[in-house]
Amino acid sequence: MEACILGAHQSESNTFHFTSILVDHHLAIDAGGLATGLSLAGQRAVRYVLITHQHWDHVKDLAGFGFNRLHDGPVDVYCTDEVRRIIEANLLNRDYWIDFFDGLGAQQPIFHHRTASPGQHFSVSQYQITTIPVNHSVPVMGYQVVDPVGRALYYTGDNGPGCGQHWAAAKPDVLITEVTYSNAFANEARRFSHLCPSQLQEALEVFRDARGYIPRVVALHVNPDYEDDVRREVADVAQKLNASIEVAREGMVIDV
Ligand SMILES: [Zn+2]
Ligand SMILES: [Zn+2]
Repeated sequence: MEACILGAHQSESNTFHFTSILVDHHLAIDAGGLATGLSLAGQRAVRYVLITHQHWDHVKDLAGFGFNRLHDGPVDVYCTDEVRRIIEANLLNRDYWIDFFDGLGAQQPIFHHRTASPGQHFSVSQYQITTIPVNHSVPVMGYQVVDPVGRALYYTGDNGPGCGQHWAAAKPDVLITEVTYSNAFANEARRFSHLCPSQLQEALEVFRDARGYIPRVVALHVNPDYEDDVRREVADVAQKLNASIEVAREGMVIDV
């Protein structure tokens, strides 16, 4: 299984994008950078989108992506019923632009909503999926994706201090999580339920105590204001834990 980081940040510009991951060219997890981080041909190859929660930086490109898919057949979009309701109330609706969950005149809907709930197991394409709830300012569920030969990728979604106990529900070869703030902003991280590197270390220690190992870790959702410090502090955590922990960049390809 191969995972490509389309967006590795909590914000966007002409050089970086909101958070999105693409598995084996056809399964996306979160859609913050699903259009801006991927060519038109690449977007047309996507058949499934898994959404962790409704925050703008995770769903924003559903609009551009849906538009680019108008002539390419439906896409299955997995999220809770509540997240679909919020997306349709605020982003994808006819007051604002186009509701891709709804038909366009005689045309079939572009997005087929597949209800996913926390703590479920189901299959998507050739993968076994587990939804794992974590602590954030709104309900979030991460996704563990296991391929046919048993290799496992776990993307936590946004989460804050205390998330390690939730991660222990997964048994990944590669764990992708967020590190939004640098250590100087640990209080902000706690207040907004995000992680800084020292809080990542605590979460990985909780995971290690529960599971007996630390998987390869990739951090994303970095606030660009703090990126230099985040990269330095994450390298310190990797050294302390004797673990492989990388901070993602757009275009990074992970061989799971
Ligand atoms: Zn969020
Ligand atoms: Zn976010």
